[in-house]
Amino acid sequence: MRCASPDEGYSANTGVRVSDKTNRRLALFSQSWPLVKRVFRENARAHLGTYALATVCLLLIAGSTAFVAWIMRDIINEIFYGQRKDLIWIVSGAVFLAFLVRGVATYIQAVGLAKVGNNLAARYQIRVFDKLMSMDMAFFSSVHSGTLAAQINQNVGGVRDILNMTLTSLARDFVTLLGLIGVMVFQDPYLFLMAALIGPPLILSVGYLSRRVRSVTAQAIQLNSSLLGAMQEATQGVAVVKAYTMESGIARHIQALITSTEERSNKIARVSERTSPIAETLAGLTIAGVIAYSGYRAAYDGIPPGNTFAFITALLLAYDPVRRLARMQISMERALVNARMIYDILDMPVREPEAVDAVGLSNPSGEIRFEDVDFAYESTLPVLKDLSFTAKAGKTTALVGPSGSGKSTVAALMLRFYEPSQGRITIGGEDIRKTTTNSLRKSIAYVSQQPWLFDGTIRENIRFGKPEADNAAVEEAAKLANAHDFISEQAKGYDTPVGENGTLLSGGQRQRISIARAILRDAPILILDEATSALDNESEKKVQDALDTAMKGRTTIVIAHRLSTVINADKIITLYEGQVAEEGTHAALVKKRDGIYARFFAMQNGKTKEGQSENE
Ligand code: ADP
Repeated sequence: MRCASPDEGYSANTGVRVSDKTNRRLALFSQSWPLVKRVFRENARAHLGTYALATVCLLLIAGSTAFVAWIMRDIINEIFYGQRKDLIWIVSGAVFLAFLVRGVATYIQAVGLAKVGNNLAARYQIRVFDKLMSMDMAFFSSVHSGTLAAQINQNVGGVRDILNMTLTSLARDFVTLLGLIGVMVFQDPYLFLMAALIGPPLILSVGYLSRRVRSVTAQAIQLNSSLLGAMQEATQGVAVVKAYTMESGIARHIQALITSTEERSNKIARVSERTSPIAETLAGLTIAGVIAYSGYRAAYDGIPPGNTFAFITALLLAYDPVRRLARMQISMERALVNARMIYDILDMPVREPEAVDAVGLSNPSGEIRFEDVDFAYESTLPVLKDLSFTAKAGKTTALVGPSGSGKSTVAALMLRFYEPSQGRITIGGEDIRKTTTNSLRKSIAYVSQQPWLFDGTIRENIRFGKPEADNAAVEEAAKLANAHDFISEQAKGYDTPVGENGTLLSGGQRQRISIARAILRDAPILILDEATSALDNESEKKVQDALDTAMKGRTTIVIAHRLSTVINADKIITLYEGQVAEEGTHAALVKKRDGIYARFFAMQNGKTKEGQSENE
């Protein structure tokens, strides 16, 4: 995942270039707004109705709060001081009504905003997942899947909070505050000026704290994601962890991450909670000052206490919105960090671009050619060097060679998981870079080295090859892959769950299911990457027969380590350090003196014989 470099801040989102510390502060401040605007632009329209209703409710809440403060003057002056019995019921009724309105409005806006928030989280989750699915294999090699999932999970909530917090704070707290300020100014403008002295120090300290929160939050999310990723990895690889008695080592690593996360969380709490003592102290000073001043004035000047009471009520009621507004900026900073991380993913350039004029692969049954192909994985040495070979249409071409010679990479390039840095790959004379990846991949049935099964039933896993296939076709494919018998023996047959990545099945069974999946796909091109390596000799023989049938009439590329499986291939290519070392039929290659293939074959046969004699 692309991360902003320290010098750039999060410039990727806003295009703001930051060069030094002061500028960075300014830039961080100025780029919050574009982000808030973007979140609104992308999401608010879908929920305008609910937002309008919530806004009305929030205004009602603000209005009723101001009303309660304002009516204080009449309660004191008219009811207690003036003894107006006729007003008792009216004023009491009005106060009750104000609270009733507040209660109902609070409920409606809270439920409405929660619903919108949940919907927003869902929308971002869908967008992020779509984005991830559009990324190429290089991206997934460069990120830790567990960490990525944890990051997305934490951050999606942040975007939802931006919308809800902005609206709640602006409409409820800001408008409430305005209403209460109105009451205060109306009741006693001089006292108000005195109370307003709280403003500047509060704003300054909150501004400082929110900058601190921003950096600590970003670190906390990274740490938390690494922690969740590491935990996921440890539980997935628990067999290896236990076999190597690494429990305590892993536990120490996790503990270290947990301790750092805990420290970060404590730091966030310390920084963000610092608003409370600051706000409390300032509020205490103001309220005490107002009480003292107005108390003296009432005692010496004999002014009726109604106005002062209304003023103090408004001041006390204003304290909560002020405190919340102060905290809002802090919480907002946290939410903005979350949102930025989400947009870092959403804004990543699609690394699997398709030519604008890409067309469907017109002749998938044609010959496959690699023409002077060069390729290197990111930041590694060249893997394929000037590789050229032809796989004849409808024939079987085997790729053999030492481990690491680039065989699986050939398969990955054919599927366009990666692009060659030089040269081209053609199918039926068409450069695959100019075809749509969809049509290319639909023409290929691929059995990967590590058969990946999804957490579902056996039937679902086979049907993955062709979603529209009926049960009979699924079973037919399983029979061909020599999988039907073991599937039938399972308690629930084809409806047996395979567990997470097929953990409930043996390696050989998993491989046969993934072969059945490829057979069901019925595509003109078949790529088998060590497809039978986990099978015992007997199963391999049977599956090989099935594969021989499946290969008929298809352009097949077989990658194999066990040479016995490629003897019948129409052509065998030996790869060595990313280049074609030799090619020909089995008969021709074994005869080659000092040929790599001949040496390999002799070695493997020798081993087999030794193995047999040992067993005997
Ligand atoms: P083979 O299938 O012949 O064993 P591969 O094609 O898997 O060989 O690998 C060729 C080379 O590319 C190896 O040196 C391997 O380390 C490297 N390699 C394979 N996959 C990746 C990857 N996703 N990222 C970086 N390097 C890789």
